[in-house]
Amino acid sequence: MTASHRAFMRARSVIAGGVNSPVRAFKGVGGEPIFMQRGEGAYLFDVDGRRYIDYVGAWGPLILGHADADVTRAVADAAARGLAFGAPTEGETELALEVRALMPGLERLRFVSSGTEATMTALRLARAVTGRDKVVKFEGGYHGHPDSLLVKAGSGALTLGVPTSPGVPAALAAHTLVARFNDADSVGALFAQHGNDIAAVIVEPVAGNMNCVPPVAGFHERLRALCDQYGALLIFDEVMTGFRVAAGGAQALFGIRPDLTTLGKIIGGGLPVGAVGGPAALMDQLLPDGPVFQAGTNSGNPVAMAAGLATLKKLKAPGFYETLSQRVAALTVGLSEAAARHGVAFTTNAVGGMFGLFFAEGPVRYYDDVMRADADRFRRFFHGLLGLGVYLAPSAYEAGFVSAAHTPADISATVAAAEQVFSRLSGP
Ligand code: PMP
Repeated sequence: MTASHRAFMRARSVIAGGVNSPVRAFKGVGGEPIFMQRGEGAYLFDVDGRRYIDYVGAWGPLILGHADADVTRAVADAAARGLAFGAPTEGETELALEVRALMPGLERLRFVSSGTEATMTALRLARAVTGRDKVVKFEGGYHGHPDSLLVKAGSGALTLGVPTSPGVPAALAAHTLVARFNDADSVGALFAQHGNDIAAVIVEPVAGNMNCVPPVAGFHERLRALCDQYGALLIFDEVMTGFRVAAGGAQALFGIRPDLTTLGKIIGGGLPVGAVGGPAALMDQLLPDGPVFQAGTNSGNPVAMAAGLATLKKLKAPGFYETLSQRVAALTVGLSEAAARHGVAFTTNAVGGMFGLFFAEGPVRYYDDVMRADADRFRRFFHGLLGLGVYLAPSAYEAGFVSAAHTPADISATVAAAEQVFSRLSGP
């Protein structure tokens, strides 16, 4: 019996499902979660002492790899000065200034402690300033779990939202309209019908919660134009893409100015931080200067701010994103070539430091394309790689992440391991 199995059994006796976020439980791929003990650069080490090349990166925050020396030093220094004050600290201003330098559209920010809080706040603000209740999201889009966003469409149709989870009031979900990612006409149709009631469109500018699907040319421009035409706000949920696809996020990469932006993951460097930001006139509607309620005991925590600041500073190194993209390209091209050698239908997507792998013929542009990929092959691929010391996200619907700590040797080792697994997949 492994130490990981024992740890899981023990956790199950006291933690709901044995995990504190459901995707960690390996339900999507079968088997049991691996309990980790420590991380170093591109590697994770489990409680049985096994090493893995990690492509999860704590689900996105660890763009510098595990336990980066500068980040851990900044955290230790901040911790030594006190863990929390519940009063403003200059670190909050420093981090906000750093974010604004990278994303000039965020004139004012408000820090929170998770991506969920950030999107919840953005929606409340959008509803408050427009005086409208409806929001548009995309099928396969995930924005954390505010009730209004825990909604999906029925089988690809454009429908009034139905809750994804028990406990979400149907009356609330009815205010959430669901469109098709990369299909601006589907958004246009919703505006044509409900235009005067729509407060906002919220979109992951590169879809990262239905694996990884980049926007098609012109998609975001159409969203921007529709929002302007109907007086709705465009919310870019850059919790995943912020500082991941480019220093200035997807809004810089695609040249689109959203009204509100939500951030998380990298902005906290591995500690719990989220943020919402936008023009001063909008953001000043939040309490205390405006009437829209928002608050948080742990918001702007000094240790978390220090981790975020130390992380963002390192992203400005010359060539940072070029190197990251090269590593991602080496990985996706290497995997595609290996799959082709073994006759396995396989497609990859990539933007900056994030990528997607699909057991399907490409291109993969829509939610339905993602859904037609072979989930059973992914499951076998995942477990094959895990056995060879490569840790992918335990779900066919998550983007993968490369960090600055991944070396060309790590990528080659990953491709070599995948080659072995592909050779088994092509058999009976
Ligand atoms: N938005 C996006 C795009 C995300 O990927 C996530 C989390 N994966 C969230 C929001 C929610 O963030 P958190 O888990 O920190 O609440």
